[in-house]
Amino acid sequence: MADLAEKLEAARAEVARLERIAATATCRELGCDMQSSGGANCGCEFEEQLDGVKIIAAGCCSVPVNVCTRCGDCDYGKNADATEIRRACRDATLFGDHDTTSKGGSHGA
Ligand SMILES: [Zn+2]
Ligand SMILES: [Zn+2]
Repeated sequence: MADLAEKLEAARAEVARLERIAATATCRELGCDMQSSGGANCGCEFEEQLDGVKIIAAGCCSVPVNVCTRCGDCDYGKNADATEIRRACRDATLFGDHDTTSKGGSHGA
């Protein structure tokens, strides 16, 4: 019977392999069915000089991560929304009032 069990196992593996190929083919044809799967850190840590002031961004916001429901492909936050969020994050850090950055005020009390 061990032989039969092995054959069953091999058959299951083959089915799984074909299903994955079919899913990938559908994705290649129709595009992936990306669904939101939570978020990831924006990863936009950087240092920049602005008007002689060194600004350090901590990269503390999050970007959406999408996963394909068919092939399980994940964009790891590489999508248009994430690009936009990173840009807004950078702008807020550099030009906005960001609590996490200290510009070392010269007119303190
Ligand atoms: Zn896909
Ligand atoms: Zn950020």
